[in-house]
Amino acid sequence: MEEKKLQEIVKQRYGKSIAKCSNEELYFALLEFTKTSINSKERNRGERKLYYISAEFLIGKLLSNNLINLGLFDIVKEILEKNGKDITEIEEVEPEPSLGNGGLGRLAACFLDSIATLGLNGDGIGLNYHFGLFKQEFENNLQKETKNPWIESESWLNKTNISYEVPFKDFTAVSKLYEIDVTGYENGCNKLRLFDIETIDESIVGEGISFDKEKIAKNLTLFLYPDDSDVEGLLLRIYQQYFMVSNAAQLILDECDEAGYDISKLHEHVVIQINDTHPSMVIPELIRLLTARGIKMDKAIEIVSKTCAYTNHTILAEALEKWPLAYLEKVVPHLVPIIKELDKRVKAKYKDKKVAIIDENNRAHMAHMDIHYGFSVNGVAALHTDILKEEELNAFYKIYPEKFNNKTNGITFRRWLMHCNQPLTKYIETLIGNDFKKDASKLKDLLKYEDDKKVLDKLEQIKYENKLALKTYLKETQGVEIDENSVFDIQIKRLHEYKRQQMNVLYIIYKYLEIKKGNLPEKPITMIFGAKAAPAYVIAKDIIHVILCLQELVNNDPQVSPYLKVVMVENYNVTKAAKLIPACDISEQISLASKEASGTGNMKFMLNGAVTLGTEDGANVEIHELVGDENIYIFGEKSEEVIEHYRKGDYVSKEYYENDPLIHELVEFILSRDMLLIGEKQNLIRLYNELINKDWFMTLLDIKEYIATKDKMLEDYQDRESWNKKVLNNIAQAGFFSSDRTIAQYNEDIWNL
Ligand SMILES: *Cc1c(COP(=O)(O)O)cnc(C)c1O
Repeated sequence: MEEKKLQEIVKQRYGKSIAKCSNEELYFALLEFTKTSINSKERNRGERKLYYISAEFLIGKLLSNNLINLGLFDIVKEILEKNGKDITEIEEVEPEPSLGNGGLGRLAACFLDSIATLGLNGDGIGLNYHFGLFKQEFENNLQKETKNPWIESESWLNKTNISYEVPFKDFTAVSKLYEIDVTGYENGCNKLRLFDIETIDESIVGEGISFDKEKIAKNLTLFLYPDDSDVEGLLLRIYQQYFMVSNAAQLILDECDEAGYDISKLHEHVVIQINDTHPSMVIPELIRLLTARGIKMDKAIEIVSKTCAYTNHTILAEALEKWPLAYLEKVVPHLVPIIKELDKRVKAKYKDKKVAIIDENNRAHMAHMDIHYGFSVNGVAALHTDILKEEELNAFYKIYPEKFNNKTNGITFRRWLMHCNQPLTKYIETLIGNDFKKDASKLKDLLKYEDDKKVLDKLEQIKYENKLALKTYLKETQGVEIDENSVFDIQIKRLHEYKRQQMNVLYIIYKYLEIKKGNLPEKPITMIFGAKAAPAYVIAKDIIHVILCLQELVNNDPQVSPYLKVVMVENYNVTKAAKLIPACDISEQISLASKEASGTGNMKFMLNGAVTLGTEDGANVEIHELVGDENIYIFGEKSEEVIEHYRKGDYVSKEYYENDPLIHELVEFILSRDMLLIGEKQNLIRLYNELINKDWFMTLLDIKEYIATKDKMLEDYQDRESWNKKVLNNIAQAGFFSSDRTIAQYNEDIWNL
């Protein structure tokens, strides 16, 4: 039946058979085929609806995941095979929408999948960025940014005739709503609703990602968070955020009207999850719209406070948005009196300056508004929530202990196991059946095979095949040659100093020098990186530069390259993640303790049978508790000690550099003759100075223990049977990190859908 349908579509479109079509033709035929199948699915419904508002939804390619969720993947794959076609090649045709930066946006995408899968009534709301996040290219060992167009005349986007007027100080924007269907795994569907502006003008983008930041009507939805290192960039961000939430608020009220709900009981029918502070202006905007409908201010504030819930994603101060009132006045002056009113009420009740919304410098603290005027505040891993309660947001926790709760992040196993690692999925099925696909905790049934040599060998063989597949992919896409018989050590995530790619860099230098001295590793090592740096984040770009320089140096050194290779994957995104993770042996999760709120990359690796090398940070703590000391490698200063160092200001990186000969040698190497011959002097010096004179994220504090732990890990890898047992334990314990579990908890404790 499905075969007939697909044949019919292909015939209609191209007048030929499946076998005669190109991969590109088949992609568009499958797009139509899948969209038609989705249209016949049930929509999730209910008397109460969730609106998950987020500036980012890093959804990745959708074809295969939708087919999996619709229960059609295997059938379609077979039909294609019969006609001499390979679905993985067809997948390559689909452009990846880059509607997110990293973890936060990917989390929102996993959540949409799980919300639909659990049959819950909830949509995502965001913006339809035409060029998304930039595309990364490497040129002369430097990151170069270009635009990433992903919207084609036929795509997953469905145009609606829903449109709103969004009032700014200088003009009124007219929006247009696009929707992408979100399929649940063997369940109903929801929608991702992306607002766009009709007057957008793609032609104003010049060299790279440059454009006129002041032509708001033309640029509003061009890029995700364009460079905000200047005032125009900051203002554009406010324009984007208000455009998103004003549309969201109008849509929500419209849907309530349509359903015939009494708007004074909004909170009974609607819950809004505010994903980080980017959508925070939805609070004053909803209050504005409710009062415009004749509801009294007191009542409007009460309704909105019972409707909104806030998720905090970070304790890094620079990420908690504070908007100068003067900027808000320039963009959305009509919100300022409302924010002032909200602040006045807080100040009347609480004298503590730390909990004010508007500070002494006339800046509005978005997170503070969310906490006072929302009914729930959650962190994203147990440690993170504890730090919020005891440190960062302690003053708020004392006022509202009942609002604070933890929701440890999760990932959708449909994408991060069933799709990205089909051989492993199939094998798990033969061992424990199919139940784990709907109930991830069932993966624990694998534990009974922990001493079964046959099973352990098979896991090793699957890993090997995944490594081979990655080798082929990297050869084809980047022209690099890697050794499938080496240990794959992978660090892929946004480039940030707190994530400490620079510490991994120092390890590479250490290993390089060891090999030069004749201390050869027992098994060759392949160090793989993938990371984009924010365009205005200078040191992050310097770290990319040093990795690329090391790649050139190490891989071209005949004495070293048989034992050590460095690969920096270009344009790291969801598609690349799905190819890298199944091939990994060592998962690098080495953030400075207390700084990584949760991490979700760590969960994807664990699920695919990599062993974590990590600090006691974010969800690593929970991974450690689940797998036990035997099955994870933990090192480094603990979060309490790190927080104490910050409090006392007693960490001085230069002392480590001056007093420890090894550390001295490793840091010096950045400015060695070899490196200067390859790299840019200015960039290398800047990074060198940063490490010696600042090192805000304490690389040198943990580097020695990191080196020792990684070397122990490489040594333990030699005992194949005991290593494979660790692999099995990691897979078996990963069930807790299914986003189905996370979403069930959100629903139980916050949403009550
Ligand atoms: C999962 C994921 C992330 C988050 O990785 P972390 O290691 O948790 O920072 C970032 N980017 C992409 C493309 C991802 O798939």
